[in-house]
Amino acid sequence: MNEETTRALYERSLSTLVGGVNSPVRAGSQPYPEFVERGEGAHVVDVDGNRYLDYVMGYGPLLLGHDLPDPVREAVDGTVDAGPMYGLSTDLEVELAEFIADHVPSVERLRFVNSGTEATAAAVRLARGATGRDKIVVMQGGYHGGHESFLVEGDAERPRPGSAGVPEAFAEQTIPVPFNDETALADAFERHGDEIAAVITEPLLGNNGIVRPVAGFHDTVRTLCDEYGALFVLDEVITGFRVGGLSCAQGKYDIEPDLTTFAKIVGGGFPVGAIGGRASVMEAFTPTGEVFESGTFNGHPVAMAAGLATLEYAEENDVYEHVNSLSDRLRTGLSEIVADHAPEYAVVGTDSMFKLLFTRDEPADRPDTYPRDGSDVDAGDTERWQRLFRPAMKERGILLPPNQFESQFVSDAHTEADVEQTLEAYKDVLA
Ligand SMILES: *Cc1c(COP(=O)(O)O)cnc(C)c1O
Repeated sequence: MNEETTRALYERSLSTLVGGVNSPVRAGSQPYPEFVERGEGAHVVDVDGNRYLDYVMGYGPLLLGHDLPDPVREAVDGTVDAGPMYGLSTDLEVELAEFIADHVPSVERLRFVNSGTEATAAAVRLARGATGRDKIVVMQGGYHGGHESFLVEGDAERPRPGSAGVPEAFAEQTIPVPFNDETALADAFERHGDEIAAVITEPLLGNNGIVRPVAGFHDTVRTLCDEYGALFVLDEVITGFRVGGLSCAQGKYDIEPDLTTFAKIVGGGFPVGAIGGRASVMEAFTPTGEVFESGTFNGHPVAMAAGLATLEYAEENDVYEHVNSLSDRLRTGLSEIVADHAPEYAVVGTDSMFKLLFTRDEPADRPDTYPRDGSDVDAGDTERWQRLFRPAMKERGILLPPNQFESQFVSDAHTEADVEQTLEAYKDVLA
């Protein structure tokens, strides 16, 4: 594997970009971050011409893989030809809003922004503005982007800033509880119920090794929010239009949130975010209400066109059947390999998300609820995964995300042959 050009670029980038990268997760790849020249279907080709089967898939947005199908490409090209953006309204944002509202029953009104981080930050401001309360409940091991309210660690009794630069005052307003822990959630409400504006959670932990919800957990969130007058914010940035297909994870798991945040797939590979929910709550945003939210690039025409064409393509073709069945095959095949060669490891995932965790501590009586929360995943052998396993997979032509925690994604461009090649590589490396 020749990486000369990659090394030279990394050397240059260290002089102008912080840590050589624009998002810290990318620096996790050792000894150099990947520098991509182009995508080809399910593959990426780096600047040295090395070709990898890609399971990073943009960290989630690329449901259709790297080659835009013709209708998506035409929609994007046509929009670019008409001019990059206007700061004025277009029909595209109305159509994408209608598509989402048609497929996700909890969504009556939307606001488009430019990233998942923007969406969750605005959703929390909206919940605070609508309830007149300041505290939010979050899940330990959950991820909602880089924002002061969410960069909080610790537990309900001792929340603390999760990053330098986050004031204590923000941490004091955030209550972290373990995912899937109904008792901890009920305790938080008992102590602080009349101060809690919202519970924000992902339907499954999608940035912490993939932790699925136990039956009834989201019902409990709903019930407690109703009882105490708090809002239920469901962060579907990673699961939206991936898990549960066009009805999203809330359709699959039968969750009834007040507000939902979207991003990733909704922009078809371009920067996007969205907040959606009941009209009565959403209309607290400016201009109808008092909660400020604004953006030069909000509803960017290229992202709207790409998102809409991507979702329509998924609707008209058997995209979800394809990606889910390949992912199923990967999980089944991996489970067999693990049983033979690494019984101490666990295969996790659902729909087109999958991952092999370098840990396994299943309760004998309830193996189906493992992993149960973020700490189960954190217990993994992350160094071994990152320093030895991932590079060995890369040597065999398989590109995985740089760490143990990020999900892997199957795209519409992946094939059965790709799956077999992937399983061979896992077997080879783990044996
Ligand atoms: C990726 C992600 C975010 C952040 O979105 P960005 O577009 O990276 O800002 C928020 N929440 C979840 C669940 C995510 O997966």
